[in-house]
Amino acid sequence: MKAISVLGSTGSIGTQTLQIVKEFPKQFKVVALTAGKNLGLLLEQIKYYKPEVVALADKSQLSALQQAVDDLFKNEKYFSPPKLLGGDESLNIAASWDSADLVVTGIVGCAGLLPTLSAIKAGKDIALANKETLIAAGPVVLPELKKSGSRLFPADSEHSAIFQCLQGTPWPDNARLSTGQATPGIRNIQLTASGGAFRDWAAKDLIHATVKDATSHPNWSMGKKITVDSATLMNKGLEVIEAHYLFGLAYEHIEIVIHPQSIIHSMIELADSSVLAQMGWPDMKLPLLYAMSWPERIETPWKRLNLSEIGRLTFSEPNTSKYPCMELAYSAGKAGGTMPAVLNAANEEAVALFLQEKIHFLNIPKVIESACESHKNDLKANPQLNDVIEVDNWARKAVRAHVQKNAHQMTMSTLRK
Ligand code: NAD
Ligand code: MG
Repeated sequence: MKAISVLGSTGSIGTQTLQIVKEFPKQFKVVALTAGKNLGLLLEQIKYYKPEVVALADKSQLSALQQAVDDLFKNEKYFSPPKLLGGDESLNIAASWDSADLVVTGIVGCAGLLPTLSAIKAGKDIALANKETLIAAGPVVLPELKKSGSRLFPADSEHSAIFQCLQGTPWPDNARLSTGQATPGIRNIQLTASGGAFRDWAAKDLIHATVKDATSHPNWSMGKKITVDSATLMNKGLEVIEAHYLFGLAYEHIEIVIHPQSIIHSMIELADSSVLAQMGWPDMKLPLLYAMSWPERIETPWKRLNLSEIGRLTFSEPNTSKYPCMELAYSAGKAGGTMPAVLNAANEEAVALFLQEKIHFLNIPKVIESACESHKNDLKANPQLNDVIEVDNWARKAVRAHVQKNAHQMTMSTLRK
């Protein structure tokens, strides 16, 4: 049985991971949970999964959690209550919890960086959903993996697809994953993209895009931030950088193809021109389960793929002028060093401001581009952790300052004038 820690247990990835544990109790048990602030759901999870430790980022709610847990366990004969911890540092303690074999990283954004690094330093295997960690800090994370022997199993559906395809190449083990070296025999990676919320909108109509429009994904049900990233296609751009660090390919060999049905989750082209694809219904439980069970395949009763029912799979080139975020991500990835951390932090801040209706959808790429431009002269090619944290903070401030300075043209009403 594998002991699992779930970081971000109350989110979309976290709750789906816990559904897997519930469905396969012989294979998995939960030893650690971490959450931001959703006390009610966290309490239900504690009641059901009986973890050894629970960390709550929002320290101000810790005493309320303690009270509720005391009540929950007061008549409990067989299980001890979990150790409860609060604050950011507690996430690192839970992430490196001794009895865990594998840590599922479902925290959203760069907030996942330090907990993920703690888990890596403790030698835990990682099921990586929190892509922002690798994007912002690839040059810091990769050497730490090498040092500790911890392995990164991709849980993002595209990278899981590539990883699954690689099992059929002369590269059967996971040993070279995340070493930053090119994976031998692979010529190209093709990441598929659903096209996001606005795929059927004409570019000229994006001026009317609202938060509600951008947070309605046609194929996947996910947290708000990644749903907006899918609508701008920044998610795909971030995944290009994620693929670069995971599989070691140069950016010229990582392509994006629009595939609205989300049945092919990504493809690899091999040296002999053969292309391998991994398929399945768009359900995050599949890549999560594979990251949790590798190298085993667990028998599931989940809905089976029926291609005759689907009928047609379609593909097209991404529209780079409608979606400038993709090119911004390629440029940041190619610049390397601290630039992807700036791109990522600027994007997190821009998406947060968009969700608060302080900037218009069309301004998301503009404020990110401005932050990346301003960072060019300060770029550090071989950053340490402190450099990553510093530029992350700087980029967030730079975006807020830019938005404040240009407030007259940031929102929908001002843009339409
Ligand atoms: P979500 O918003 O649904 O959940 C985020 C979780 O992180 C919650 O438990 C929240 O409490 C916690 N959290 C948020 N801020 C925190 C902070 N500052 N400190 C500690 N905890 C904090 O997000 P999600 O959609 O589950 O995405 C999680 C990660 O997985 C993201 O990096 C995303 O890119 C990646 N991912 C998600 C999906 C998906 O289907 N949802 C697919 C692929 C990759
Ligand atoms: Mg993905």
